[in-house]
Formats: sequence, structure tokens, C-alpha cells
Amino acid sequence: QYAKKHHQHLQIYHQQIDVNTVDRLQLVNDLKPAIEQDELVLFYQPKLNLKLNKVTHVEALVRWQHPIRGMIPPDSFIPIAEKMGQMNALTNWVINQALDQYLLWQQQGVELSIAINISAENLKDDQFCQHILQMIKDKKVPIEALTLEITEDAVVADPEHAIKQLTELKQHGLKLSIDDYGTGYSSLAQLKQLPVDELKIDKSFVQNLMSSEDDKIIVSSTLQLAHNLGLKVVAEGIEDEGSLKWLTQRGCEMGQGFYLSKPVDAEKLTQWLAQSKYR
Ligand code: C2E
Ligand code: MG
Ligand code: MG
Ligand code: MG
Repeated sequence: QYAKKHHQHLQIYHQQIDVNTVDRLQLVNDLKPAIEQDELVLFYQPKLNLKLNKVTHVEALVRWQHPIRGMIPPDSFIPIAEKMGQMNALTNWVINQALDQYLLWQQQGVELSIAINISAENLKDDQFCQHILQMIKDKKVPIEALTLEITEDAVVADPEHAIKQLTELKQHGLKLSIDDYGTGYSSLAQLKQLPVDELKIDKSFVQNLMSSEDDKIIVSSTLQLAHNLGLKVVAEGIEDEGSLKWLTQRGCEMGQGFYLSKPVDAEKLTQWLAQSKYR
């Protein structure tokens, strides 16, 4: 009796695990050919220069157009790519695509710098820096036109190694940005050592700025801290006009968020920009 009951219990437990595992494995198996067969697509979200009131940059954000599952957001497959050793292939694809888009915009007379997200996994690979630099050189894209966004926790994982890699990229002229700032527990000592140009305040502090006194205090202090360290600040997650004005008045250099535009494909971004007052 006990054995039977116990066995049933185990079976149910196993079935549950199996469904999830099969699901994950399927995505993992699909991802490699998806990268090779161009099932990935880059969306772009404007970064508004709040001093010039002009969109000077865009951030490239990857999506996966899965033939069966439809559009998969990056949070659903980047962690899998990271675990399964696919992150360098993915980032290489993203950089290559973004460089082509940069050149296409140049041909169309559209002047836009591009920010690319890189993961902690990328920084672990010693060849990664050299490879990025080579791609940029091969495509003849001016290196200052690119910014790399690195999440705060990517740096915390192995600060010494990250600092070494980032310093090399910076020496070659790449702009560096700390993404999701405020969520990753980096110490001020670590922040001071990083060769970065810009700090992106995480959207969780910005989304409800107008209704939260605490968020206002956090954002003002972060602006002060960053400026005192000689860093520019980007606020992500601006969802209303009030927040945009508040940030502009307090000297925040750049803003990004649904109030301006959601991430859209390159063609839509070009159209949006053409009719926007932020040209
Ligand atoms: P992230 O780099 O911090 O990008 C900002 C995310 O916030 C994007 O989500 C964007 O759509 C969203 N967002 C922007 N403005 C607003 C707003 O006003 N309100 C709200 N609620 N959300 C806003 P997305 O595109 O789903 O990307 C999620 C994360 O996936 C990114 O966060 C980044 O960490 C990662 N990711 C995306 N593309 C890549 C990539 O090519 N490589 C790597 N390594 N990571 C990527
Ligand atoms: Mg980012
Ligand atoms: Mg972010
Ligand atoms: Mg994020």
C-alpha cells in the first residue's frame, strides 16, 4: 500500500519535471538553428538626449520569431542561451545585425548610435573583446557609434575579470554603460573602478516616479552620485510626461521608455523618428 502510494506520488512529480524539461530542451534545441537561420530579430528603442531634446541613440533589443510559438521575449530565452553556451553566438549575431543596421541608417541619412546589451557570459570569454573589435573594424563602423550595456550583476559576478575586459574595450573607444543600475548590489568601490561612461537607472525606480516619494529620493541621489563620479545618466522606464520633465529638470542626460516609444523594428523606428519632434 505504502509503496504504491509512494510510487504514484513519484510518477506525478516526474511527469511535472519532464514537461518543463522537454519544453526547455525544445527551446534549447531550436535556438542554435534559429540563430543560424535568422529567426532572431532586433527591435530598437530610442534613447532621447534630454539636453538636446533629440534622439541620438537607440538600444537594440533582441526577439525570437519562433515559427510555432510566435514572438518570444528575450527574458524567456537569454537565460537558456546563457546556461547552454549559446551566448557568444547570440551576441555575435546581435552585433553583426546592429552594425549592418547602423550602416543602412547612415545610407538613409539617419544619424543614430546603437547600444547593444552584453551578458556576463560574454565577459567570461577572453576572446570576446578581440572578436567584437574585429567585427567593428571589418564593417568599418566608427567605434564611438557603439555603446555596450552591461548589467550590474554581470560585473559583480567576477569584478576583477570584468574590469580587465571592460578596460580593454574602453581603451579602443567603445562606450560602456551599466544597465539596470540599483538592482545588482554593486558596491561604490566597484563602481568607482569601472571604466564606464554612463549609468542606466533601472526602470523599477523610474516607472512610478511621479507617485513615489521614495523613488524620487533614490533617483535624485543616484543622479548626484553618478554626476559626482563623472558619469552620464540614462533613465529607463519613462512612462509619462511628468517623469520626463522631472528628470530633465534634474539634469538627467538621457531618457528611454514607453512614453517616447516601445521597442519596434528598424523600419518602424525610422518612420517614428521621421514624424517625431525629437529629430
Ligand atoms: P534591458 O537592457 O534593461 O532593456 C530594457 C527593457 O525594458 C526592455 O525589455 C524594454 O522593452 C523594457 N522597457 C523599456 N521602456 C520601458 C517602459 O517604459 N516601461 C516598461 N515596463 N518596460 C520598458 P525587453 O526588450 O523585453 O528586454 C529585456 C531584457 O532582455 C533587457 O533588459 C536585456 O537585459 C535583455 N536583452 C534584450 N536584448 C538582448 C541582447 O541582445 N543581448 C543580451 N545579452 N540581453 C538582451
Ligand atoms: Mg539594456
Ligand atoms: Mg535596463
Ligand atoms: Mg533589464
